[in-house]
Formats: sequence, C-alpha cells, structure tokens
Amino acid sequence: MAKGTINVSVENIFPLIKKFLYSDHEIFLRELISNATDATLKLKHLSSIGEGKVVYKNPQIEIKIDKEGKKLHIIDQGVGMTKEEVGKYINEVAFSGAEEFLEKYKDSAKDSGIIGHFGLGFYSAFMVAERVEIITKSYLENEDAVKWECDGSPEFTLVKDKRKEVGTEIILHIAEDSTEFLEEHRINELLSKYNKFMPIPIKFGTKEIADPKHTPKTTKDKDGKETTEPQKMITVDNIVNNPNPAWTKQPADLKKEDYTSFYRELYPMQFEEPLFNIHLNVDYPFNLTGILYFPKMKANLDVQKDRIQLYQNQVFVTDNVEGIVPEFLQMLRGVIDSPDIPLNVSRSYLQADGAVKKIASYITKKVGDKLQSLFKKDRAEFEKKWNDIKIVIEYGMLSEPKFFEKAQKFALFPTVDNTYFTFDELKTKVKDVQTDKDGNLVLLYATNAEEQHGYTEQAKEKGYEVLLLDSPIVSHLIQKFETENSEMSADKTPIKFVRVDSDSIDNLIKKDEEHISKLSDDEKGKLKEIVEGIVPKEKYTVQLEALDSKSNPFTITQPEFMRRMKEMQATGGGGMMGMSNFPEMYNLVVNTNNELMQKILKAKGKREEYVSQALDLAKLSQNLLKGKDLTDFIKRSFDLLK
Ligand code: ADP
Ligand code: MG
Repeated sequence: MAKGTINVSVENIFPLIKKFLYSDHEIFLRELISNATDATLKLKHLSSIGEGKVVYKNPQIEIKIDKEGKKLHIIDQGVGMTKEEVGKYINEVAFSGAEEFLEKYKDSAKDSGIIGHFGLGFYSAFMVAERVEIITKSYLENEDAVKWECDGSPEFTLVKDKRKEVGTEIILHIAEDSTEFLEEHRINELLSKYNKFMPIPIKFGTKEIADPKHTPKTTKDKDGKETTEPQKMITVDNIVNNPNPAWTKQPADLKKEDYTSFYRELYPMQFEEPLFNIHLNVDYPFNLTGILYFPKMKANLDVQKDRIQLYQNQVFVTDNVEGIVPEFLQMLRGVIDSPDIPLNVSRSYLQADGAVKKIASYITKKVGDKLQSLFKKDRAEFEKKWNDIKIVIEYGMLSEPKFFEKAQKFALFPTVDNTYFTFDELKTKVKDVQTDKDGNLVLLYATNAEEQHGYTEQAKEKGYEVLLLDSPIVSHLIQKFETENSEMSADKTPIKFVRVDSDSIDNLIKKDEEHISKLSDDEKGKLKEIVEGIVPKEKYTVQLEALDSKSNPFTITQPEFMRRMKEMQATGGGGMMGMSNFPEMYNLVVNTNNELMQKILKAKGKREEYVSQALDLAKLSQNLLKGKDLTDFIKRSFDLLK
C-alpha cells in the first residue's frame, strides 16, 4: 500500500476549493461526468487511430445512488488510469490530463470534443463528499487496477484493486451537509440542467417500457366477448441525455421539423412554435456552433426565463450570455456551443476580449444575413411575421451600427392599412405629396390606430400615407432615422417623423398655401379671448388656424418634440433630463373657418356651452375625456337633446 501527500504548494487546498473555487456546489456532478466523458472520448479516439488493442463498443456512463451507504457512484468505460497516471493526474492538483492528451495527439484530436482543461474539476468532488474513492483500470495491457482514496486532507492512499473491466468508478461518500445529492429528484434535476446534451449516453436507473417484441393477443370467447392479454413490460436502462443534439449536426441534414422538435427538447414548457431559426457553424477564427430561434415576441420587453443556453463541448455552462451575445439578440432562444469562450474571467473582462467580440459580431452578421434572405425569398411571409420580430430588429438597429446598415434592406414600415414599405420604398412613395415647403420629407405615423383614428382619417383624406409604428422603442428609432437623414448628410433628403395628432392637419406638412380666414382680425382677437376664458389655461395653448370649413372646429394636438422626448425618457436612454416633470401640455387648434365660430361670437348666452361642448368633443377624440369631465359632458349632451 502506498501512502503519499498530494502535491500542492498550498498547505491545504481543500477548504479553499470548498469555499472559493466554485460558488455552486452542484457543479461537481457536471465536472465528474465531464471527466468520464473525456475518458470515453479518449478511448474512442485511440480506437479510431488504431492504437494498441483498444476495444470500443457502446460505452455509457452510469450514475448510481446508494442511499443507505450514503454514496454516489459515477462509473465510466473510458481509458481508465494506471497507477502512475493517478499519481500524475490526480495527485498533482492543477495538472490536466486532458490538456496533456490534446497536446500529445495534437492534430488528430483537436475535434475529439474533449472538455477538461484546467485540471481542477475533479477536486470539486470534495465540495460535497467527505471521502472520495477512485477505482480505475487502464486500457493498457498488463496494468493492474488501482484504488485511490482520500478524505479531503492532503493525505491519500493508493492500493491495488481487483477490478477487471477497463474504466473508472468514482465513489463519493456524501458529506452530512450535502445529503440532497442522495435524492433521485435532485440528481435528475442536475442531469437535465448540465448533461442533457452530453455526447456519451448517461444511464441513471432503469425504466419499464412495453416490450417491442410483444403484441398483446385479443381472443374471443364463445359469446363473442373479446379479451386482450396484458402488455408485457421489460426493464431497460434509463438514458437521460440526447448525445446527438441538433446543433452538432450539419444544417443540410436537418429538416424544419428537426429544428422544431429540438426547440421542444430545449424548452419543454414552451408551447408556441418558433418563427424561424438560424444555424450557426464556424471553425475559424474561433469555434462556434449553435442554433438560435426567433420566438414570437411580446410587445412589452418582459424578462423572459427561457433564455439562450451556453454550452462548451455539449456541457451546459450557463444561460447568462451577457457579454457574449449582443444585447438585442438576448431576446432570442436557443443554444450556443463554443470551447473558445473564456468563462473563468469576469463578465466585464469578457466583453473586452477580442475573441468574444468577434463571436458577437459573427452572430450579429448571421442574424442579419438570415433576415435578409428570408425577406428576399418570401416577402409576404416576412411581412406576416414582422410584428412578432420587429422588436428584435428595431432594438438591433438602435444598438448596433452595422446591423442598422444591413437592416435598411429588410426593416419594414407598415401603414395603418397594412401595406409594408422598406425605408427606400416609403421615401419614393410619399416624396411628391409629403415634402414640405422647406424640402423636408415628412413621414406621418400613428402609434395606436384606434386612439388616433380621427387624425389618421384626416391625413389619409389628404392623400398622405400614415405609418403604424407601435413598438415601445419607436421614439428612439425614428430619432435615429432623423439623425441619419438630416441636413448634415449632404446626399440625403432631410426626414421628419410626425405623429398624426401632433398638429392641425394643414400644419403637419406645411405647404406654401395661403389660407383665407373667414374672420377679420378683430373677430379673431375676440374669439381667442372668449375661448381662453373658458378652457383651462394651464393645460391648453389656444392656436387659431384658418382651416377647411369642413374640418373640425376644435382639435387637440400635442407637439411632436415634447411628446417624443417624454417617451424616450420613459423607455430609457436619450432624451432630456427632467422632462418627465413637465406638465402635460396640449395645443387647442381652433378652426376659424368652421361655422361654429360665428355662433360662438354671436350667441352670448350659449357661449360657454358651445365652447365646453366643442372642447369635450376634441378631448374625446384624443381619448382625454375622463372622470367628472366625462360625466358633465354626457349630462350636457343629453340636455342638448331636449
Ligand atoms: P481536467 O479535466 O481539466 O483535465 P480534472 O481535475 O477534472 O482536470 O481531472 C484531472 C485529470 O484526471 C484528467 O485530465 C484525467 O487525466 C484524469 N481523470 C479524471 N477523471 C478521470 C476518469 N473518469 N477516467 C480517466 N481519467 C480521469
Ligand atoms: Mg475535468
């Protein structure tokens, strides 16, 4: 029997490991299964290059709970270790056999999928175990099996063992404070979190299934009564993982259904189908595979829990992809697998990492390309999906300049009548009718087709196109379009976005037309005085306009600039500080050419009634009439019917 001291420079590394190395104790199982997987993949590799007398059948990894004995077993059929190897790989903490293997078989093994590389994973076992045994037999001929044992102090024992099969069994004597890991449901939970897609089948217990070789017979007795014999059941291994997940396959080998069923596998609780997917696959200058899905997006950017999952060689690492996936794409779902992401560093450092930056811009580019090709291939279908994907695209346009550029080709501007324009198409379409006297191209929009219906109809009557822009970040986006297409950019026509209810119809797009007022200047002065005396001054600025006599007498508008700044501030980012403290201010546009104005000027006794009624109607069309004002309005209206 050999005795020795684990070779570490620190006096006792175990308390350190227990406390600091991994904040999450549960990852010990992931680490041990990763080692078992590595050992199996090594054997597979050795057999593929015909080294020695390697036998590689259909190896699996088995997890076993021994509740009475308070033990957890992890058993593999991999390469195993010789006595010397245990000495080297296990007793020298931070010496990685995985790295050594990759170094030795450099060229042939680089795609073998070997996981380990820090040489620390094994010791995570001591986070949950008070004693650990390794029983292992190397694939090399004439090597005895050995048993290593250690109780968490730097002392270990190493003795011969009678194990016959090649492979390794790790036995964890679970510590008092970690007995949760002797519960089947807890182990199941871990296996499905970390090991669901690992490349070697993992067996955890057995299950009963209907015997596929047996079809129950149905017999009829003499009265014609049918009886069916019971189905024979058989016991089979319960394999908990899918060793060949979709993202490890070639896109050409996958059909649409395969992508959908993989989505189900990833998110069993998601009942809606994804809209489409993007298969990622690069091996230079970094290694990355994965599948991203566009789910139907809710208009409110609520925190979603089914997020993109990050894997390294099919081992789950995290579902926090902050710093790796550009923010606007974190709304997507799916999987990214890359061994090249340095995860042992802080997130802020990660964002500065060159390789990670390249990964982020690769993903952005792929998403842009995919959207563009969907748009080109089937525009009608793309238009149908637009409402469900626009949030991601619009957010991307705001946050990634490169994506903004690319998205010019497929970002859509829908009208209230469901016509979809690209930005260029829109400009061409409205150029003649919607250029104002100063040469600005004015793009009209509504944010709510129902609420702004009256204003929209007026604009449409004038032959204007009215867009329906209803995402929560639209104020930021149109601001960006205006900046990109301002007087500053010499080659472009300046663009202005104006909401349909932000001014009187004639002022939305100012033309060089003279409007003749039916009222004299004297009458106008008097009218203004009357109206201002009745409507609440602190809320409304009275603005007289000589509009079409058929246009409404009173209209309430809210200037574009003020409203937009407020919105931008409410949704975060740009805008002006303190803007939210501004009172809600509106303009009351009074149409001097409407017949009602004569009535107001003449009828002294009914003045107040006319003005109040007209104001309330204007408020009603802006959805501003509420509470007591609404009650008074209804009463007044009924009185008028008398
Ligand atoms: P890493 O996996 O990063 O190399 P670990 O601490 O997890 O570091 O493991 C150290 C080494 O011990 C491995 O590289 C491997 O050589 C050896 N080892 C651990 N577990 C097994 C196993 N189940 N079968 C064979 N070798 C193993
Ligand atoms: Mg390891």
